[in-house]
Amino acid sequence: MPHVYRLDAASASAAEKAQSITRDEIAPRAAATDGDRTFPSTQIAALAKHGLLGLTVDTAHGGLGLGPRAFCAVVEAIAEGCASTAMVYVMHVAALQAIQGSTTVAGKDALLREAATGEHLTTLAFSEKGSRSQFWAPVSQLVAEGDACVVNADKSWVTSANHAASYVSLSQKPGAANPGESTLYLVRRGQAGAEISAAGFDGLGLRGNDSAPVTLKGYRVPGGDLLSEQGKSEALVMGGVLPWFAIGTSSMAHGLCRAAFAATQKHLGATGFAHTGTGLRDLPNLRARLAQMSVKTELSRSLLGHTLDHLEAPSEVTPLYVLQARYAALEASVEVTDLAMKACGGAAFSKHLAIERLFRDARAGWVMAPTADHLLDFVGRAFTGLPLFG
Ligand SMILES: Cc1cc2nc3c(=O)[nH]c(=O)nc-3n(C[C@H](O)[C@H](O)[C@H](O)COP(=O)(O)OP(=O)(O)OC[C@H]3O[C@@H](n4cnc5c(N)ncnc54)[C@H](O)[C@@H]3O)c2cc1C
Repeated sequence: MPHVYRLDAASASAAEKAQSITRDEIAPRAAATDGDRTFPSTQIAALAKHGLLGLTVDTAHGGLGLGPRAFCAVVEAIAEGCASTAMVYVMHVAALQAIQGSTTVAGKDALLREAATGEHLTTLAFSEKGSRSQFWAPVSQLVAEGDACVVNADKSWVTSANHAASYVSLSQKPGAANPGESTLYLVRRGQAGAEISAAGFDGLGLRGNDSAPVTLKGYRVPGGDLLSEQGKSEALVMGGVLPWFAIGTSSMAHGLCRAAFAATQKHLGATGFAHTGTGLRDLPNLRARLAQMSVKTELSRSLLGHTLDHLEAPSEVTPLYVLQARYAALEASVEVTDLAMKACGGAAFSKHLAIERLFRDARAGWVMAPTADHLLDFVGRAFTGLPLFG
């Protein structure tokens, strides 16, 4: 049976690697990653060892040179085992698109090589305390000072904050005519002026993703760390970072759906009532919930598969498909994990089936910008002829 994302041989091989790493290295550590809020360093190292951190980096720079289909299949496989690990991976690959597409950054060849081997983990620092989830309108400004720029910013959430070597960040050009006139640049962890909040991440879900606020105080961005020209980030953000973030988080949601389905299917088939000799699977309401879980998961995966076709042959409707696919996936993961909780009862409420972790992890995607609300608004705006950002 062909994969729903229609993989070529190289992409299928990457997906198989991700499945086997997930089985051996990632899934067995998922409960501890969640329970202890530990960053999945071993898991990321295993992905790096097999070249998956350089999935989209060209082969000349030591990467696998693969595209969105491989990315979706790899992320889905990782998320079936551990969504925190998948989140760190998605942020790395999405942020890398800005580096790969940059025409201004210095030392790009070395950066790509280090990113491909896992020596250089990267991530996104878009959200700010002032603009909250509306990341497209950062309040921080990148002020030119000699041949460098200086920035003060309250970045409110940065995944992998204590582990990434760089944060791909967004700030406004001073005097910008509109908030969209922003600039992409690298913040190097450990450089003077970049402070990570000491309080570790203690969220409802994705508890291993090491998300933390990062304060930039008089942080100096050398000219070579600019990823775009001043005020000209739009092509890199809208054409690179955001579509990859959207399809990556969609695939993460699908991995959660698949894990919830598999756990529910197993539980309904293996558990029953001693006093009647019947199984949970003999209850039609539970069977219907399992069927609904499958329908919602496969509908959303199919839409993502169709969206991948649009990404390969871009047109004016491609962004609409990307936005809709992400919304569908977020909704599916929230609903499917909720159905799993209801189908498996108290057993799902306890930790031994891992369904409660999937239920918590699925809720993070909903509030991650562009949030589910933003996605619906953007799609509605496009269909009624309004500009995307009101
Ligand atoms: C686990 C996790 C990891 C994260 N990692 C990163 C990261 O690595 N990098 C990064 O940059 N950010 C990251 N984020 C931040 C994320 O992208 C959002 O910016 C953040 O979750 C927004 O939270 P908030 O309280 O500021 O939301 P608010 O902006 O206060 O939103 C509150 C509610 O209002 C709704 N809302 C807001 N604006 C609109 C609108 N225009 N129309 C309709 N409804 C609207 C939202 O959907 C939400 O339901 C992460 C978030 C989480 C949960």
